Amino acid sequence: MSGVHNFNPGPAVLPAEVLGEVREEMFDFKGTGISILETSHRSKEYQEVNDRARSLLLELLGLGDEYEAMFLQGGASLQFVQVPMNLLGPGETADYVVTGAWSAKALKEAKLRGKVNVAADTKTDRGYTRIPRPEELKLTPGAAYVHVTSNNTISGTQWHELPDTQGVPLVVDASSDCLWKPHDYSNLGLLYAGAQKNLGPAGATAVVIRKDLLDKCGGDVPIILRYKTQAEKGGLYNTPSCFAVYVIMKVLEWVKARGGAEAMERRNREKAELVYGVIDKFPRVYSSPVERESRSCMNVVWHLPSPEKEAAFLEGAARRGMIGLKGHRSVGGCRASLYNSLPVESARALAEYMEEFAAS
Ligand SMILES: *Cc1c(COP(=O)(O)O)cnc(C)c1O
Repeated sequence: MSGVHNFNPGPAVLPAEVLGEVREEMFDFKGTGISILETSHRSKEYQEVNDRARSLLLELLGLGDEYEAMFLQGGASLQFVQVPMNLLGPGETADYVVTGAWSAKALKEAKLRGKVNVAADTKTDRGYTRIPRPEELKLTPGAAYVHVTSNNTISGTQWHELPDTQGVPLVVDASSDCLWKPHDYSNLGLLYAGAQKNLGPAGATAVVIRKDLLDKCGGDVPIILRYKTQAEKGGLYNTPSCFAVYVIMKVLEWVKARGGAEAMERRNREKAELVYGVIDKFPRVYSSPVERESRSCMNVVWHLPSPEKEAAFLEGAARRGMIGLKGHRSVGGCRASLYNSLPVESARALAEYMEEFAAS
Protein backbone atom coordinates (compact mmCIF):
# COMPACT_ATOMS: atom_id res chain seq x y z
CA MET A 1 0.00 0.00 0.00
CA SER A 2 2.52 2.55 1.17
CA GLY A 3 5.32 0.71 -0.65
CA VAL A 4 7.12 0.26 2.66
CA HIS A 5 8.00 -3.17 4.03
CA ASN A 6 8.09 -2.77 7.79
CA PHE A 7 10.44 -5.20 9.57
CA ASN A 8 10.57 -3.17 12.79
CA PRO A 9 11.09 -5.28 15.93
CA GLY A 10 8.57 -3.34 18.01
CA PRO A 11 6.56 -1.20 17.94
CA ALA A 12 5.97 -3.02 14.70
CA VAL A 13 3.80 -3.47 11.64
CA LEU A 14 0.01 -3.57 12.05
CA PRO A 15 -2.46 -4.98 9.52
CA ALA A 16 -3.40 -2.36 6.91
CA GLU A 17 -7.05 -3.44 7.31
CA VAL A 18 -6.90 -2.61 11.02
CA LEU A 19 -5.38 0.81 10.40
CA GLY A 20 -8.09 1.49 7.84
CA GLU A 21 -10.84 0.67 10.34
CA VAL A 22 -9.21 2.82 13.00
CA ARG A 23 -9.12 5.72 10.56
CA GLU A 24 -12.75 5.21 9.61
CA GLU A 25 -13.91 5.23 13.22
CA MET A 26 -11.68 8.09 14.31
CA PHE A 27 -14.30 10.82 14.26
CA ASP A 28 -17.32 8.73 15.14
CA PHE A 29 -16.96 5.55 17.15
CA LYS A 30 -20.10 3.43 16.79
CA GLY A 31 -22.42 6.39 16.34
CA THR A 32 -21.29 8.17 19.50
CA GLY A 33 -20.13 11.17 17.48
CA ILE A 34 -16.76 11.07 19.24
CA SER A 35 -13.63 8.98 18.89
CA ILE A 36 -12.66 6.09 21.15
CA LEU A 37 -9.76 8.28 22.29
CA GLU A 38 -12.26 10.63 23.92
CA THR A 39 -14.52 7.96 25.41
CA SER A 40 -14.76 7.15 29.12
CA HIS A 41 -13.31 3.82 30.13
CA ARG A 42 -16.50 3.39 32.20
CA SER A 43 -18.76 3.81 29.15
CA LYS A 44 -20.77 0.94 27.71
CA GLU A 45 -18.86 1.36 24.43
CA TYR A 46 -15.45 0.94 26.00
CA GLN A 47 -16.57 -1.90 28.26
CA GLU A 48 -17.60 -3.77 25.13
CA VAL A 49 -14.20 -3.18 23.54
CA ASN A 50 -12.41 -4.37 26.66
CA ASP A 51 -14.58 -7.46 27.09
CA ARG A 52 -14.31 -8.37 23.42
CA ALA A 53 -10.51 -8.06 23.46
CA ARG A 54 -10.27 -10.19 26.61
CA SER A 55 -12.52 -12.94 25.35
CA LEU A 56 -10.94 -13.01 21.89
CA LEU A 57 -7.50 -13.39 23.40
CA LEU A 58 -8.57 -16.42 25.46
CA GLU A 59 -10.46 -17.91 22.52
CA LEU A 60 -7.54 -17.55 20.11
CA LEU A 61 -5.12 -19.00 22.67
CA GLY A 62 -7.51 -21.92 23.09
CA LEU A 63 -7.99 -21.26 26.81
CA GLY A 64 -11.22 -21.78 28.74
CA ASP A 65 -12.88 -19.89 31.56
CA GLU A 66 -10.45 -21.19 34.14
CA TYR A 67 -8.31 -18.30 32.84
CA GLU A 68 -8.70 -14.55 33.17
CA ALA A 69 -7.36 -12.10 30.59
CA MET A 70 -6.63 -8.42 31.11
CA PHE A 71 -4.65 -5.59 29.57
CA LEU A 72 -2.29 -3.84 31.97
CA GLN A 73 0.27 -1.06 31.76
CA GLY A 74 3.97 -0.89 32.53
CA GLY A 75 5.05 -3.12 29.67
CA ALA A 76 6.41 -6.64 29.79
CA SER A 77 9.18 -5.24 31.96
CA LEU A 78 6.75 -4.58 34.81
CA GLN A 79 5.63 -8.20 34.49
CA PHE A 80 9.22 -9.22 35.29
CA VAL A 81 8.46 -7.67 38.71
CA GLN A 82 4.77 -8.45 39.10
CA VAL A 83 5.14 -12.17 38.39
CA PRO A 84 7.49 -12.93 41.32
CA MET A 85 5.75 -10.36 43.56
CA ASN A 86 2.48 -12.21 43.17
CA LEU A 87 3.44 -15.81 42.56
CA LEU A 88 6.67 -16.41 44.46
CA GLY A 89 5.72 -16.93 48.10
CA PRO A 90 8.02 -17.13 51.12
CA GLY A 91 9.91 -20.42 51.23
CA GLU A 92 9.11 -21.14 47.58
CA THR A 93 11.46 -21.41 44.62
CA ALA A 94 10.83 -20.19 41.07
CA ASP A 95 12.63 -21.77 38.11
CA TYR A 96 13.95 -19.49 35.38
CA VAL A 97 15.13 -20.66 31.98
CA VAL A 98 17.50 -18.04 30.60
CA THR A 99 17.64 -17.96 26.80
CA GLY A 100 18.22 -14.30 26.02
CA ALA A 101 18.50 -10.72 27.21
CA TRP A 102 14.84 -10.49 28.21
CA SER A 103 14.82 -13.65 30.30
CA ALA A 104 18.04 -12.47 31.96
CA LYS A 105 16.23 -9.26 32.93
CA ALA A 106 13.25 -11.22 34.23
CA LEU A 107 15.61 -13.34 36.33
CA LYS A 108 17.31 -10.25 37.77
CA GLU A 109 14.00 -8.85 39.00
CA ALA A 110 12.90 -12.19 40.44
CA LYS A 111 16.15 -12.49 42.38
CA LEU A 112 15.26 -9.27 44.16
CA ARG A 113 11.94 -10.75 45.27
CA GLY A 114 12.65 -14.30 46.37
CA LYS A 115 14.39 -17.61 45.86
CA VAL A 116 15.13 -18.53 42.25
CA ASN A 117 16.77 -21.44 40.51
CA VAL A 118 18.33 -21.05 37.07
CA ALA A 119 16.94 -24.17 35.40
CA ALA A 120 19.13 -23.57 32.34
CA ASP A 121 21.16 -20.75 30.84
CA THR A 122 22.20 -21.12 27.22
CA LYS A 123 24.60 -18.17 27.07
CA THR A 124 28.08 -18.89 25.71
CA ASP A 125 30.90 -16.60 24.55
CA ARG A 126 28.93 -16.28 21.32
CA GLY A 127 25.86 -15.03 23.18
CA TYR A 128 22.50 -16.76 23.23
CA THR A 129 22.18 -19.02 20.21
CA ARG A 130 19.77 -21.75 21.22
CA ILE A 131 16.86 -23.08 23.27
CA PRO A 132 17.76 -25.84 25.77
CA ARG A 133 16.73 -29.42 25.13
CA PRO A 134 14.12 -30.80 27.56
CA GLU A 135 16.68 -33.03 29.32
CA GLU A 136 18.90 -30.03 30.08
CA LEU A 137 16.31 -28.35 32.30
CA LYS A 138 17.05 -28.65 36.01
CA LEU A 139 13.55 -28.08 37.32
CA THR A 140 12.78 -27.80 41.02
CA PRO A 141 10.11 -30.30 42.15
CA GLY A 142 7.18 -28.33 43.53
CA ALA A 143 8.47 -24.99 42.25
CA ALA A 144 6.14 -21.98 42.47
CA TYR A 145 6.42 -21.64 38.70
CA VAL A 146 8.74 -22.09 35.71
CA HIS A 147 9.45 -18.94 33.68
CA VAL A 148 10.39 -19.06 30.00
CA THR A 149 10.67 -16.48 27.21
CA SER A 150 8.91 -18.17 24.32
CA ASN A 151 10.63 -16.06 21.67
CA ASN A 152 13.94 -14.31 22.09
CA THR A 153 13.40 -11.13 20.14
CA ILE A 154 17.04 -10.03 20.15
CA SER A 155 18.92 -13.29 19.60
CA GLY A 156 16.36 -14.81 17.22
CA THR A 157 15.60 -18.09 18.96
CA GLN A 158 12.22 -19.58 19.80
CA TRP A 159 10.64 -22.44 21.72
CA HIS A 160 8.77 -24.38 19.05
CA GLU A 161 7.19 -26.49 21.78
CA LEU A 162 6.77 -25.18 25.31
CA PRO A 163 8.49 -27.29 28.01
CA ASP A 164 6.54 -29.88 29.97
CA THR A 165 6.63 -28.63 33.56
CA GLN A 166 4.81 -31.67 34.98
CA GLY A 167 1.99 -29.66 36.49
CA VAL A 168 4.09 -26.80 37.84
CA PRO A 169 2.56 -23.52 36.57
CA LEU A 170 4.35 -22.37 33.43
CA VAL A 171 4.86 -18.61 33.12
CA VAL A 172 5.52 -17.47 29.56
CA ASP A 173 6.83 -14.14 28.34
CA ALA A 174 5.23 -14.27 24.89
CA SER A 175 5.84 -10.61 24.09
CA SER A 176 7.22 -11.26 20.64
CA ASP A 177 5.29 -14.37 19.56
CA CYS A 178 1.89 -14.47 21.25
CA LEU A 179 -0.50 -16.27 18.85
CA TRP A 180 2.21 -17.08 16.30
CA LYS A 181 0.94 -20.68 16.38
CA PRO A 182 -1.25 -22.92 18.54
CA HIS A 183 0.52 -24.26 21.63
CA ASP A 184 -0.20 -26.94 24.19
CA TYR A 185 -0.99 -24.73 27.18
CA SER A 186 -1.95 -27.54 29.55
CA ASN A 187 0.60 -26.37 32.16
CA LEU A 188 0.00 -22.67 31.66
CA GLY A 189 -0.17 -20.60 34.82
CA LEU A 190 0.37 -17.16 33.37
CA LEU A 191 1.20 -15.63 30.00
CA TYR A 192 2.18 -12.04 29.42
CA ALA A 193 2.95 -10.10 26.28
CA GLY A 194 3.80 -6.48 25.68
CA ALA A 195 1.44 -5.71 22.82
CA GLN A 196 3.79 -3.71 20.62
CA LYS A 197 5.34 -6.68 18.83
CA ASN A 198 2.78 -9.27 17.86
CA LEU A 199 -0.55 -7.99 19.23
CA GLY A 200 -0.99 -4.30 18.56
CA PRO A 201 0.44 -0.91 19.45
CA ALA A 202 2.55 0.05 22.46
CA GLY A 203 0.92 0.93 25.76
CA ALA A 204 -0.82 -2.26 26.87
CA THR A 205 0.42 -5.62 28.09
CA ALA A 206 -1.74 -8.70 27.76
CA VAL A 207 -1.82 -10.83 30.90
CA VAL A 208 -3.57 -14.20 31.06
CA ILE A 209 -3.66 -15.92 34.44
CA ARG A 210 -5.13 -19.21 35.66
CA LYS A 211 -7.80 -18.19 38.14
CA ASP A 212 -6.63 -20.44 40.99
CA LEU A 213 -3.34 -18.49 41.08
CA LEU A 214 -5.17 -15.25 41.85
CA ASP A 215 -5.50 -16.30 45.47
CA LYS A 216 -1.74 -16.27 45.87
CA CYS A 217 -1.64 -12.54 45.21
CA GLY A 218 -1.94 -10.70 48.47
CA GLY A 219 0.20 -10.11 51.52
CA ASP A 220 2.39 -7.07 51.25
CA VAL A 221 2.02 -6.72 47.47
CA PRO A 222 0.86 -3.15 46.67
CA ILE A 223 -2.84 -3.25 45.82
CA ILE A 224 -2.35 -1.85 42.31
CA LEU A 225 0.24 -4.55 41.53
CA ARG A 226 -1.89 -7.50 42.64
CA TYR A 227 -3.24 -9.51 39.71
CA LYS A 228 -6.34 -10.14 41.81
CA THR A 229 -7.11 -6.43 42.00
CA GLN A 230 -7.12 -6.04 38.23
CA ALA A 231 -8.66 -9.45 37.50
CA GLU A 232 -11.68 -8.67 39.66
CA LYS A 233 -12.30 -5.56 37.55
CA GLY A 234 -11.43 -7.09 34.17
CA GLY A 235 -8.38 -4.85 33.98
CA LEU A 236 -10.42 -1.71 34.73
CA TYR A 237 -9.34 -1.08 38.32
CA ASN A 238 -7.84 2.16 37.07
CA THR A 239 -7.80 3.84 33.66
CA PRO A 240 -6.32 1.42 31.12
CA SER A 241 -4.53 2.25 27.90
CA CYS A 242 -7.90 2.46 26.12
CA PHE A 243 -6.71 3.22 22.61
CA ALA A 244 -4.12 0.45 22.66
CA VAL A 245 -6.70 -2.07 23.86
CA TYR A 246 -9.09 -0.94 21.12
CA VAL A 247 -6.45 -1.55 18.44
CA ILE A 248 -5.51 -4.90 20.02
CA MET A 249 -9.17 -5.91 19.81
CA LYS A 250 -9.11 -5.13 16.09
CA VAL A 251 -5.87 -7.07 15.57
CA LEU A 252 -7.38 -10.06 17.38
CA GLU A 253 -10.48 -9.85 15.19
CA TRP A 254 -8.18 -9.76 12.18
CA VAL A 255 -6.35 -12.89 13.40
CA LYS A 256 -9.65 -14.66 14.00
CA ALA A 257 -11.05 -13.74 10.58
CA ARG A 258 -7.97 -15.25 8.95
CA GLY A 259 -8.33 -18.57 10.75
CA GLY A 260 -6.71 -17.99 14.14
CA ALA A 261 -3.39 -19.30 15.39
CA GLU A 262 -3.38 -22.26 12.95
CA ALA A 263 -3.56 -19.92 9.99
CA MET A 264 -0.96 -17.62 11.53
CA GLU A 265 1.43 -20.56 11.85
CA ARG A 266 1.15 -21.41 8.14
CA ARG A 267 1.66 -17.79 7.20
CA ASN A 268 4.57 -17.31 9.62
CA ARG A 269 6.34 -20.49 8.49
CA GLU A 270 5.99 -19.45 4.88
CA LYS A 271 7.61 -16.09 5.62
CA ALA A 272 10.38 -17.58 7.75
CA GLU A 273 11.20 -20.24 5.13
CA LEU A 274 11.56 -17.56 2.46
CA VAL A 275 14.19 -15.69 4.49
CA TYR A 276 16.02 -18.67 6.02
CA GLY A 277 16.04 -20.24 2.57
CA VAL A 278 18.21 -17.45 1.19
CA ILE A 279 20.48 -17.46 4.26
CA ASP A 280 21.11 -21.19 3.76
CA LYS A 281 21.59 -20.79 0.02
CA PHE A 282 24.41 -18.23 0.37
CA PRO A 283 26.48 -19.30 3.39
CA ARG A 284 29.44 -17.17 2.29
CA VAL A 285 27.33 -14.01 2.35
CA TYR A 286 24.82 -14.61 5.13
CA SER A 287 25.54 -16.42 8.36
CA SER A 288 23.04 -17.22 11.06
CA PRO A 289 24.43 -17.42 14.61
CA VAL A 290 21.41 -19.47 15.70
CA GLU A 291 21.26 -23.25 16.07
CA ARG A 292 18.98 -24.60 13.36
CA GLU A 293 16.39 -26.26 15.66
CA SER A 294 16.09 -23.07 17.69
CA ARG A 295 15.50 -20.69 14.80
CA SER A 296 12.79 -18.14 15.42
CA CYS A 297 9.96 -17.69 12.92
CA MET A 298 9.37 -14.21 14.33
CA ASN A 299 12.82 -12.60 14.42
CA VAL A 300 15.34 -13.84 11.86
CA VAL A 301 18.91 -12.70 12.57
CA TRP A 302 21.96 -12.94 10.33
CA HIS A 303 25.38 -11.43 9.76
CA LEU A 304 27.22 -10.28 6.65
CA PRO A 305 30.97 -10.80 6.15
CA SER A 306 32.02 -7.23 7.03
CA PRO A 307 30.61 -3.99 8.46
CA GLU A 308 30.96 -2.45 4.97
CA LYS A 309 28.89 -5.22 3.37
CA GLU A 310 26.32 -4.86 6.09
CA ALA A 311 26.02 -1.11 5.56
CA ALA A 312 25.68 -1.64 1.81
CA PHE A 313 23.03 -4.30 2.42
CA LEU A 314 20.96 -2.06 4.68
CA GLU A 315 21.31 0.87 2.31
CA GLY A 316 20.07 -1.17 -0.64
CA ALA A 317 17.18 -2.44 1.48
CA ALA A 318 16.18 1.09 2.45
CA ARG A 319 16.17 2.11 -1.23
CA ARG A 320 13.64 -0.66 -1.80
CA GLY A 321 11.43 0.54 1.05
CA MET A 322 12.53 -2.14 3.53
CA ILE A 323 12.93 -0.67 6.98
CA GLY A 324 13.78 -1.94 10.46
CA LEU A 325 16.38 -4.51 9.37
CA LYS A 326 19.25 -3.41 11.57
CA GLY A 327 20.02 -5.92 14.33
CA HIS A 328 19.64 -5.01 18.01
CA ARG A 329 22.47 -2.71 19.14
CA SER A 330 23.67 -5.33 21.65
CA VAL A 331 24.29 -8.05 19.02
CA GLY A 332 24.73 -6.18 15.72
CA GLY A 333 24.07 -7.78 12.34
CA CYS A 334 20.66 -7.76 10.70
CA ARG A 335 17.25 -8.80 11.92
CA ALA A 336 13.96 -9.18 10.11
CA SER A 337 10.89 -9.25 12.33
CA LEU A 338 8.18 -11.31 10.68
CA TYR A 339 5.30 -10.88 13.11
CA ASN A 340 1.75 -12.10 12.40
CA SER A 341 0.77 -8.79 10.79
CA LEU A 342 3.65 -8.74 8.31
CA PRO A 343 2.34 -9.61 4.83
CA VAL A 344 3.92 -12.60 3.07
CA GLU A 345 4.74 -10.22 0.20
CA SER A 346 7.10 -8.31 2.48
CA ALA A 347 9.04 -11.46 3.34
CA ARG A 348 9.12 -12.37 -0.34
CA ALA A 349 10.42 -8.93 -1.29
CA LEU A 350 13.16 -9.28 1.33
CA ALA A 351 14.13 -12.77 0.16
CA GLU A 352 14.33 -11.56 -3.45
CA TYR A 353 16.50 -8.62 -2.47
CA MET A 354 18.79 -10.89 -0.42
CA GLU A 355 19.20 -13.20 -3.42
CA GLU A 356 20.02 -10.28 -5.65
CA PHE A 357 22.48 -8.81 -3.15
CA ALA A 358 24.24 -12.15 -2.66
CA ALA A 359 24.63 -12.63 -6.42
CA SER A 360 25.98 -9.12 -7.02
C1 LIG B 1 10.28 -6.24 24.07
C2 LIG B 1 10.30 -7.35 25.03
C3 LIG B 1 10.16 -7.13 26.41
C4 LIG B 1 10.07 -5.74 27.00
O1 LIG B 1 8.86 -5.16 26.71
P1 LIG B 1 8.45 -3.71 27.30
O2 LIG B 1 6.99 -3.68 26.96
O3 LIG B 1 9.27 -2.71 26.57
O4 LIG B 1 8.73 -3.71 28.75
C5 LIG B 1 10.12 -8.22 27.24
N1 LIG B 1 10.22 -9.47 26.76
C6 LIG B 1 10.35 -9.72 25.44
C7 LIG B 1 10.44 -11.13 24.96
C8 LIG B 1 10.40 -8.67 24.54
O5 LIG B 1 10.54 -8.91 23.23
